[in-house]
This record gives sequence, structure tokens and C-alpha cells, in this order.
Amino acid sequence: METYNKTQVMKLKTRLLQEGIKLDEKTQQKLRGVIFNDYVTCSGLMLKLFGNKKNVKDLKSQYLNNREYVTAGINQKSKYSFSIVNGKFLIKYNNKTVCSDVGVSKPSKNQTECSYVAIHGDRIRISLVGGCVGDCKFCGLNKLAYITPSFEDIKRNVNEIIKQKGNVTRLFFTGGNPRESDFENILKTLEKTIAYYKKQGIQNFDYMFAPRGTKSYINNSPKEEYEKLLNKIKQIGVTTVAVDMEIYDKKLLAKYAPFKSKIGRENYLLCLKTAVKIFGEGNVRSNIIVGLEPKNSSLKAVESLAKIKVQPCLSPYEPYYALPEIQKPSWKELYDVFVASNKICKQYGVVLAPSLFATDTHNSIASAKNIPITQTEKSMFYSTLEDLKN
Ligand code: SF4
Repeated sequence: METYNKTQVMKLKTRLLQEGIKLDEKTQQKLRGVIFNDYVTCSGLMLKLFGNKKNVKDLKSQYLNNREYVTAGINQKSKYSFSIVNGKFLIKYNNKTVCSDVGVSKPSKNQTECSYVAIHGDRIRISLVGGCVGDCKFCGLNKLAYITPSFEDIKRNVNEIIKQKGNVTRLFFTGGNPRESDFENILKTLEKTIAYYKKQGIQNFDYMFAPRGTKSYINNSPKEEYEKLLNKIKQIGVTTVAVDMEIYDKKLLAKYAPFKSKIGRENYLLCLKTAVKIFGEGNVRSNIIVGLEPKNSSLKAVESLAKIKVQPCLSPYEPYYALPEIQKPSWKELYDVFVASNKICKQYGVVLAPSLFATDTHNSIASAKNIPITQTEKSMFYSTLEDLKN
């Protein structure tokens, strides 16, 4: 078996994240129903690199802690390929095996980008809004039909996934940003969903939203409005929050994300700072897209967040059809930003997000190292085709 140290596994992850993976036709047939056909950063094969051996008892072992998660997009030009030999999974580079300890996770039945309830690893994603009122050029959510599913719709779909998958321990509420007039009802749906699943034993409820008050996005006294909303969602039962800044450079923010630019960088930071006060350190994160702005600007973003004890979450830019002129950054650029960001975070006593659940690192330039291993993450990845298909 290959012996890899942590740095090598992280480099392999970053390369797969950037370059994607090739599948021949036969393998694609075998993987029918396993490949994610989802939002651009969640499409492809969801893999666990190392740590898949069943007979390892000690959950703290070095072997298990060298695991990484990655969603590798399907790219027939990639030098990395995925193959199945005697029912076991292999990753090869230029036809030479580089990882023979591979786990694979799968979506729920018929899950697509339009599904307002979906599973990724051991986390259920609930889109409280399908579509978005935002106009960010790097994002495809605003191209989807605008819908606001009811609690009953959500419950039916979540229960179906739990029936298919078994043990799920957390819910992630996300989706696009709603029309201002819909927000009150959305909060009611959030409240009902949390109350219902809390009774079923789920304890972690993560909520992503743009800085806003209870009524509108732009407010005369944002601090008070942010406080009011954050206290309200905490009282409803939300346990962690994400407020995604995405771009630090103000000119580029205005160019690529006019909706976010109108709210303004200062208000993003104000809302995040207020969120740390209310939810506590370690429970607030903000996404930064690496590759849309110069490296130094991405690092300024990381520092501005780390300074206020927000965990920066680094996502590689994925070219989308609305922005074909911007190239995907190289794996080396992504890796360099990861290393430099870790240094900045250390200086301010924070860590990169996601930091609570290992499988959530699958589409971020983040490591699962130091994240405790849970039974649910183990049970959602399969190391043989037979297990994966059953
Ligand atoms: S506000 Fe968020 S969901 Fe909406 S278009 Fe922008 S990035 Fe996408």
C-alpha cells in the first residue's frame, strides 16, 4: 500500500479538486447513480482518500487521520483516472496507481442541482430558496427557478433521504437569497424544520444567509438589525452560521457580485463580527473564492476574517458559463493560498473552515486533519462496488 504523509494526501486532494478525474465508459456504467450531478462545486465523484480500512479500531489513529475528502469533477482530459478492479477502487495518475485506499459516497435517488433537499456525505442540504435574487456572475443558483418549499415538502424529502441513508446527524440550510417579502415565511419554515428534527435527535443546524435585517437587506442601523436577526435564528435553534463574502477586492466585488457589493464589504464584516459575539468562536465562517481575485487580495480577505475570529473557508473558483473568460487557478496556486492562509489563521488563533465535520471539506481547500472522526462519516463512504451499490 502507498505510504503517504499528511502533506502528500492534501496535495493529492488539491490536485483532484482542481483537475478532476477521468472515467472510462465501463466505469461510468458501473457508477450509474453514484456520480453527483449537482451545483458546479458539488458535481462529480465524492471520494474519501485513505482511512477506509474497516478493521481499524482506534478512531484517533494516524492512519485514519490522514484521510481527506474531495469531490472530483468528471474531466476526461485529467491525468488522474478512477478505476474499479475486482470491485475495489483505485486512483491512477498517468496509469500508475497513486491511491488504492479509496472510499466513495453517493447522492440520494434522483438528486440533481434543482433538488431542494440533497445529501453530500453525511450532511443533508436544504435549500430554503431555490433560485436567488442575487446576481453574482460566478454562481449558477440565480439561473434556477425561484421557489420556496414548504415545511411539509422539506420534511417529506428529508425523511426519504433518512430512510435511504440511515443515520444523519445534521442539517445545512442554504440556497439562494430570498425576496425581501418572502423572508418572514422562510424563517417560519426554518423554525418548524428545526423544531421537528430536534425532536428526532438531530442537534446541528447550520444556516447560510446574506447580511440582512429581519425585513430587508439594506438597513439604516445595520448593527442593531443584524443583532436582532442573529438572536432570532439562534433562539430558533440554529447552531452555526455562514455569511459568505466571496470576494475582498471592492472593484471586483462590484463587477462580479453587484448584489453583495450593494450590501458592502464593511457590512459583511460587521454581520460576521456580530455573529461571532452571538454564536461564539468556531461557529461562524465565511467563504472566499480563490481564483477570482489576485492571491494577495484573497489573503487580505482571510486576514480580515481571522482578525474578527471568523473561520475563512477557501473555495476554488470553478469556471461557470457566465464567466468563461476567467481560468480555473492551478492546483499550486490553490495549495499556496491554503498554506499562506493557515499561517495567517494561526497568528489570529483561528482555523480554516469547515472545521467541525470532516466530510464538509470535500469541496473546499481545507483539510480534515484534526477533525474528530464520526461514525456517520464512516458509514456514508463505501470501499467496494458491492457495498456502494447495496
Ligand atoms: S447571492 Fe449567493 S446564491 Fe445568490 S447569486 Fe450570489 S453567490 Fe449565488
